Amino acid sequence: MAGSEAAWQAAEMGVQVVIHEMRPKVGTFAHQTGNLGEMVCSNSFRSDDDEQNAVGLLHWEMRAAHGLIMASADQHRLPAGGALAVDREPFAETVTARLRAHRNISISSEEVTELPKTGQWIFATGPLTSPALGAAIRAETGAEALAFFDAIAPIVYAESIDMEKAWMQSRYDKGETEEERTAYLNCPMDRDQYEAFIDALVTADKTEFHEGETAGYFDGCLPIEVMAERGRETLRHGPMKPVGLTNPHQPDVKAHAVVQLRRDNALGTLFNIVGFQTKMKYGAQTDVFRMIPGLENASFARLGGIHRNTFINSPTLLDDRMRLRSRPNIRFAGQITGVEGYVESAAMGLLAGRLAAADILGRPLATAPQDSAMGALIHHITGGAEAKTFQPMNVNFGLFRPVEGLKGGRRGRKDRYKAYTDRAKAAWQGWLEQCALDAA
Ligand SMILES: Cc1cc2nc3c(=O)[nH]c(=O)nc-3n(C[C@H](O)[C@H](O)[C@H](O)COP(=O)(O)OP(=O)(O)OC[C@H]3O[C@@H](n4cnc5c(N)ncnc54)[C@H](O)[C@@H]3O)c2cc1C
Repeated sequence: MAGSEAAWQAAEMGVQVVIHEMRPKVGTFAHQTGNLGEMVCSNSFRSDDDEQNAVGLLHWEMRAAHGLIMASADQHRLPAGGALAVDREPFAETVTARLRAHRNISISSEEVTELPKTGQWIFATGPLTSPALGAAIRAETGAEALAFFDAIAPIVYAESIDMEKAWMQSRYDKGETEEERTAYLNCPMDRDQYEAFIDALVTADKTEFHEGETAGYFDGCLPIEVMAERGRETLRHGPMKPVGLTNPHQPDVKAHAVVQLRRDNALGTLFNIVGFQTKMKYGAQTDVFRMIPGLENASFARLGGIHRNTFINSPTLLDDRMRLRSRPNIRFAGQITGVEGYVESAAMGLLAGRLAAADILGRPLATAPQDSAMGALIHHITGGAEAKTFQPMNVNFGLFRPVEGLKGGRRGRKDRYKAYTDRAKAAWQGWLEQCALDAA
C-alpha cells in the first residue's frame, strides 16, 4: 500500500523510481500473490464519509492529491453502504499495471536486506517486514526502538469519560510536579462490579491468532482476559490493583479494584487503559469495557489488539519529514512507522513519496499541515505520541487540535467533526497548492 503510493507520487513529480518488492520470490505468511497493493485481510477501506469520519477525510485528502490507491479503490468499489469496500484482485491488478506502465518506474523483485548508505530510500516494508531487513533496521535503531508485535490497549476519547466517577491521581501521588502527580485517570470498582467484570472477560468472544503468529511475545503483555482466566484475583494484584489511590468523590470508601488510564497524546484528548491489551472481538470489547464505572458512555478512538506487527518507535527515530534522524537518506512509510490500516499506510506513503521527490528535485517541502488528517497522523507518530508507550494508531479525531468555541461532549460531536473536516480540507488544499507552486 504505502510503497505503491509513494512510488506513484514521486514518479508523477518526475523522479525516477525503483520499486523493490520481494514477492513472489520471498513471501510472507499473509500475502498470497506477487501483486503490488495486495490487501492481506479485509477488503474494506472503512468509512467514506469525509465530513464526520477521520478515515473518510483521509480518503478525501488522498483523492485531492490524485493518489493511485484511492483512484484504484474507486475504480473497483463494491456496494457497502457508507463504507468503501474494494474488489481486491482487480484492485491490486490495477495498482500493479499502472505502476508497471509508468515511464518513471521500474520494478525489482529482489529482497532488500540492508539500509543503503547512498541514494534516497523509502522503507515501506510493512507489518511483515522480512527478517533479514528487520535485523538491519534493529542494528541501526537499537532493539528497544523496533517492535515485532503490537499489544494495543483500547484508547478512549477523554471527552467521553465521566469525571463524576473517575479522578486524576498517580499511585501514592508520586511525582515532582502537579502534572506527574495527576498523570493517571482512575475508575473505581466495588466487589460486585469487579466480579461481574471478571465473568464478562472470561466469557467474551475472542479472536484466534493468525497462522504465522506466535505466542512467544506474551511475556510482559498478556491479554487481559488471559490474566483473568489465570485466577479471579490476578487482575486485582496486577493492572487493577487498588492501592495508593483515594477517590475524592467517596474518600471514605476503599475501592475493591481500580482501572487506570494514561494520557496517550500531548493534546490530552486520548487515554489508553493501562495493561488492557486484548484479543477480545471488537463488539465484545465495547460491551465489556463500558462496564467500567466512568466508561459507561466511552467512545473508543481504537480498540485493543495483539498482532504480529513490525514497527519502529517513530517519535524518537523520525523527523517530521519522515527521515531517520540518524540517516536522513532513509525514510520510512506505511504501517512500519506505527500507523495502522490500509488507508493510513497508503496515506503515509503518499506523504513520504512527495517529501522524498521534493528533496531529490532540490525544493524541500514542509510536512503536511497539522490540521489536515494527513498532518494529524504524521504529527502524532513523529512527536505527539508518548514515545515510551508508542503503539500503532488509526487516524481519529482525537489526534486533531481542538477547534475553539465549539460545544464538547456527545451533543456537540456532529458540529465539531464538521469543523475538523472543513478546517482539514482547507489546510490540505493549501499544502497541495504550495506543492504545485513549488513545481511551477
Ligand atoms: C495478517 C494481517 C491482517 C491485516 N488486516 C488488515 C485489515 O483487514 N484492514 C486493514 O486496514 N489493515 C490490515 N492490516 C494492517 C495493514 O494495514 C496492512 O498490513 C497494510 O497492507 C500495510 O501497508 P504497508 O504498505 O505498510 O505494508 P504492506 O502492504 O504489507 O507492504 C509491504 C511490502 O513490502 C514487502 N517487503 C517486506 N520486506 C521486504 C524486503 N526486505 N525487501 C523487499 N520487499 C519487502 C512485502 O512483500 C510487502 O509487499 C493487516 C495486517 C496483517 C499483518
